[in-house]
Amino acid sequence: MKFCKKCLTTDLRPNSHFEDGVCIACKFSEKEKSVTSSIKLKILQNKIQENIKKRGNRGNYDCIVGVSGGKDSTRQAHWVRDRLGLRPLLICGAYPPKQMTDIGADNLSNLVEMGFDLMLVTPAPQTASQLALESFKKFGNVNKSTEMSLFATVPRVAIDLKINMIFWGENPALQVGDSAVEGVDEFDGNSLRNLNTLTEGGIDWIEDVLGDKRYLQEHYIYPNQIEFEKSKIDIFYLGPAWDDWSNDSNSTYASLQGLTMRPGEENLTGDITNASMLDEEFTNINMMLKYYKFGFGRTTDNINERIRQGKISREEGIEVVKKYDGVCDDYIISNFCKYVGISENEFWDIANRWVNQDIFEIRDGERPRRKFEVGVDFES
Ligand SMILES: [Zn+2]
Repeated sequence: MKFCKKCLTTDLRPNSHFEDGVCIACKFSEKEKSVTSSIKLKILQNKIQENIKKRGNRGNYDCIVGVSGGKDSTRQAHWVRDRLGLRPLLICGAYPPKQMTDIGADNLSNLVEMGFDLMLVTPAPQTASQLALESFKKFGNVNKSTEMSLFATVPRVAIDLKINMIFWGENPALQVGDSAVEGVDEFDGNSLRNLNTLTEGGIDWIEDVLGDKRYLQEHYIYPNQIEFEKSKIDIFYLGPAWDDWSNDSNSTYASLQGLTMRPGEENLTGDITNASMLDEEFTNINMMLKYYKFGFGRTTDNINERIRQGKISREEGIEVVKKYDGVCDDYIISNFCKYVGISENEFWDIANRWVNQDIFEIRDGERPRRKFEVGVDFES
């Protein structure tokens, strides 16, 4: 396992790509500094105009903004309406009631209060929990089916409503270094369908779980390229067009706009920003599993961003990562077990199958233990 020389990403990340020992996210952030965000904003505005021309008639909405009850949504919605001067419809592929937190529901209400039109699409709860358990067993990802439905819902509704411009916030290729989703340029989100979580394992397993309720599968399946082309769908990322797009500044902005955060909970959730996964808690389990699979988790991703912005040194980052990466409190795991109907022992039996034993040691009655030093290349 190798670490990026500049940040703390490892080469075990799916679709990772290193050049001269440096990851693509770090490479991009160097290039980034040479082009100012005002030029990028113009590029984005030109793309928007092209899209509007292509469409001809304008309906009630210019575009769709995919939102959740999280922090980035507030900022994206305001940006699209107030800076880009567009009329957005917000679409939320929502969590089932048992999974969504009160904070998430409050934050969605807050968006409506701020004058936005919001459409919620929620999957059938029983099948959602069955699929969550199958996702965990089959992929070591408790939210794979949930993520599939969140990503698929937005373009699916866009096609149904004939609104052909969609905005997402961050470009995963740049933010975390998933090279499979790299588009024509940094604004282009039409390759989002190649995201690891959407492609890995195909879709047959969903059909298997749903059985005679197969008609429900549409909720989980991302529209294909032909459907996109027929409806002339463009997905654009907003992140590149503004210079202070980051987890930290989005949290600050969102809390000024009335978003509820989770201060002081990093010891429970492992989330050092106190602002991600406000809308549901099971993703914290995934962040822990990711850590056991790849040797890094969400803390590393957050710290990498701060290293690239020059806010923290790699050395300082290592200390924070050691403390919080992989943290996920027992109460979250116990809630998930209740949701999908398994015991906590069964949970750990399944979880331990996903631990990379080259880099972690599994011990009875304990959580897996790290064998490597954070930031130091490791051979098992
Ligand atoms: Zn890097």
